[in-house]
Amino acid sequence: MRWSRQLIPTLREVPQEAEIPSHQLMLRAGLIRKLGAGLYTFLPLGLRALRKVERIVREEMNRAGALEILMPALHPKEVWEQTGRYELLRDVMFKVKDRQQREMVLGPTHEEIVTDLVAHEVSSYRQLPVNLYQIQTKFRDEIRPRFGLMRAKEFIMKDGYSFDADLDGAEKSYRSMYEAYQRVFQRCGLRAKIVEADTGAMGGSSSHEFMVLADSGEDGLVECDACSYAANLERAESVLRSAPSFADAEKDPEKIATPGLRTVEEVAGFFQSPPARLIKTLIYVADGKPVAALVPGNRDVNEIKLRRALGAKALELADAATIARVTGAPVGFAGPVGLSIPLVVDAKLRGYRGAVTGANEADAHLRSVDIERDVKVTEFADISFAIEGDGCPRCAGTLRAKRGVEVGHVFKLGTKYSEQLGALYLGEDGQKRPCVMGCYGIGVTRTLQAVIEQSHDDNGIIWPATIAPAEVEVLLINEQHAASVETAGKLVEGLKNVGIEVLFDERAERPGVKFKDADLLGLPLRINVGERGLAKGSIELRARHSGETLVVPVESAVETACARLAELKRACAPGGE
Ligand code: ATP
Ligand code: MG
Repeated sequence: MRWSRQLIPTLREVPQEAEIPSHQLMLRAGLIRKLGAGLYTFLPLGLRALRKVERIVREEMNRAGALEILMPALHPKEVWEQTGRYELLRDVMFKVKDRQQREMVLGPTHEEIVTDLVAHEVSSYRQLPVNLYQIQTKFRDEIRPRFGLMRAKEFIMKDGYSFDADLDGAEKSYRSMYEAYQRVFQRCGLRAKIVEADTGAMGGSSSHEFMVLADSGEDGLVECDACSYAANLERAESVLRSAPSFADAEKDPEKIATPGLRTVEEVAGFFQSPPARLIKTLIYVADGKPVAALVPGNRDVNEIKLRRALGAKALELADAATIARVTGAPVGFAGPVGLSIPLVVDAKLRGYRGAVTGANEADAHLRSVDIERDVKVTEFADISFAIEGDGCPRCAGTLRAKRGVEVGHVFKLGTKYSEQLGALYLGEDGQKRPCVMGCYGIGVTRTLQAVIEQSHDDNGIIWPATIAPAEVEVLLINEQHAASVETAGKLVEGLKNVGIEVLFDERAERPGVKFKDADLLGLPLRINVGERGLAKGSIELRARHSGETLVVPVESAVETACARLAELKRACAPGGE
């Protein structure tokens, strides 16, 4: 690959549209270009890296025994109606009509389609287990497409689906995908943290997410500083090591005038107390009925947990009119004492005494509230988000809050889809049973960008050797210098002959420009061929990740580069290889 014959439109300036480093670098290094919100073109070098990620994914899926298929991206809506997800995913699905005005959707995921396939093609236990996957474009009408490939409207996913005869088999399939995912991310040079996750709209019993830790990550998670416990915030449990005790705990509730004070900060300031002394009372409407959710003032209600605790299908915050009706006060002054609707109280409020709550009256709060004595608790349940510093639910350790990018997700699905779509098999005993399913996704395009988010410096990308668009850059410092041109040409040939992918920067540009571009593009190794070195019969071999530069005799340059590259690749090999 000669740079001058390639399309590598590098940019000096940081593009305004890009907020996070990986997005900026993908644009600046000329890997992708934007067509519209959440829509990107892969330029040649970006595509080369993407194909390598795909290849790793494919190899690991095949190794684990999964079979590659390719399903349509365009679906008749009827199959989605059979599971009720035409409604559930209404906002996220792109819909189109064909010329006969038949409604169709662009697939956001493929559980329905693959289960329909298996319903028709698998009928006996002898055909199980079967694990099918594809690498394909998905469409999602995301509310906020952003961060380049991280959250796009059109993106490439590897989605896989396992079908087993029973729970034991399903557990094995899940394990094997879990392990395959670990290998995929290691081979891509990514450190991915595995966290327990919520099953959300997918249904199913349990799931794990593979998270790349990054400040720009859209997912919150906690990890224990002592054991391996880690969980997405949506799901994370935590414990309080001791019930807090506050001033005036022994007294009876007392109404205090708090004119104009509504927020936790304002009220806590007024009482000269930590926010944790307050009890927040939020009024929700769950399946049409008002309920109150109580959490400590320093925590937020986790609506996923609350919905589960209530066993509710629909849950939303009550509007101002409903709040006024059930509390008798304007928004901001709700409190649990005297409320006659069901009260779901966060487990962390057990034993709370001396707390401050709203008084169900404008401009007033109660102090010295004792949750067990003064509040008619319907149910204690874990309904709040874990926070930094909470106790680990598994050991004596402490939880740390982190942010991450979800690159992969594995789910145990159970029989929800197989029952709804008739993916039944005939057992050895002649009984028909639904297949037990698992589903497994990797955001292929997101993974590519996550690698850059995790591996870059101020000068540019630092590609892992396994997925770099090319392995070695040969940089011709002065294209007017005949001996340099000749040596560089020979080196390029020599490297190609031993199977190394070379990008040859032979442009008529100033050396400074080429050096900057080389760092920006970030191929693992660079060979600088210049007049000064050649005078002594040597070239420079520079490793992008360490910045280390070796002066190497021209004759052994290919061999040394080969050896270095092999080392860099070994660093990405899954453990023990
Ligand atoms: P998120 O919570 O980030 O919206 P999700 O849980 O909806 O993702 P899944 O349905 O589990 O995503 O999809 C599998 C994988 O596809 C995710 O782990 C992620 O890597 C990737 N992915 C999902 N949505 C997008 C998107 N809009 N753009 C790029 N990749 C995505
Ligand atoms: Mg997910």
